[in-house]
Amino acid sequence: MTRAYNFSAGPATLPEPVLRQAQAEMLDWNGIGASIVEISHRSADFIAVAAEAEADLRTLLAVPDDYAVLFLSGGATSQQALLALNFASPGQVADYVVTGHWSKTAIRQASPYVTVNVAADSEAEGFRCIPARDSWQLSSGAAYVHITANETIHGVEFRGTPEIGDAPLFADFSSSIASEPVDISKYGLIYAGAQKNLGPVGIAVVVIRRDLLERSGQPRADIFDYRSHVARDSMLNTPPTWNWYLLGLTVKWMLAEGGAVEFARRNAVKSGLVYAAIDDSGGFYRNEVAAEARSRMNIPFFLPDETLTARFVAESKAAGLLALKGHKEVGGIRASLYNALPVEAAQALVAFMRDFQQRNG
Ligand code: PMP
Repeated sequence: MTRAYNFSAGPATLPEPVLRQAQAEMLDWNGIGASIVEISHRSADFIAVAAEAEADLRTLLAVPDDYAVLFLSGGATSQQALLALNFASPGQVADYVVTGHWSKTAIRQASPYVTVNVAADSEAEGFRCIPARDSWQLSSGAAYVHITANETIHGVEFRGTPEIGDAPLFADFSSSIASEPVDISKYGLIYAGAQKNLGPVGIAVVVIRRDLLERSGQPRADIFDYRSHVARDSMLNTPPTWNWYLLGLTVKWMLAEGGAVEFARRNAVKSGLVYAAIDDSGGFYRNEVAAEARSRMNIPFFLPDETLTARFVAESKAAGLLALKGHKEVGGIRASLYNALPVEAAQALVAFMRDFQQRNG
């Protein structure tokens, strides 16, 4: 069996040792005679798995003690609605910075509950940059300011954390969580679906500064209330135990590999290789994102025409480089280079790109 290099934007490649451990433990976890997904989430065995995953994730992300960490079923999109329900009073303004497809999704999910103020928007620039901080029109008294740390489709990424004044900063880290060290204390809340950098699809991580939980928010059922999930250690109802377990294995693997500092190094190497192959191609490959906003995680790029793009997708797949077709909203090619993708994969992609150009350029 050979595993291909998988450039999928998510669900995405997982570390091979994690898959092997899960496979080995599938029928009999830790000698209990059943798999971890066949036992109660309230059993001591599962609670230990869950607690260890939380402790490891806190170490990986350097989560300060005054922040709660939640593991919730479903993805990032649900959080985009929940954060409005939980932290804004009815009709209150929330500021959104629009940098691509996923910022717009965040607005769509929140807008039944808050008055959205678009503080800045790079759509007119084709979502190829992050709007300069001094151009943002922030509201006074905003419930929060929302940003998308990395735009998975458009391939633009914030460098560092913007200073925004008094309102808490909420950020969608779905496609860049744990890809580099982040100062969580600068955020009121961060959230991420796990399926790119942290593990499997079906579970989302939310990190919340605890004092924000005192806000009354809006009338909502228990199951939509972050306070209830915090009070019950994310076990208000049956959590996605398999996903939580796999996330725990993935986080442990990341810590053993050297943690966020090491993944930042690898991600810089991988993305540096691919951007260099694009920039050195004499215009055969093009990435149109402003240099200072180029994502290290998702690299969209274009070939001279559609025929070559289709050939690139087919031939790269045949060469064991999977899922390089671009998202339909942008077209072209997209290479996603998440934490679990090895440096060798980026090297293989670059070698393929050079060879393809030589044969077709
Ligand atoms: N935000 C970003 C940045 C994403 O990349 C995605 C999924 N690709 C989402 C939100 C939506 O996540 P989910 O499908 O887990 O709801």
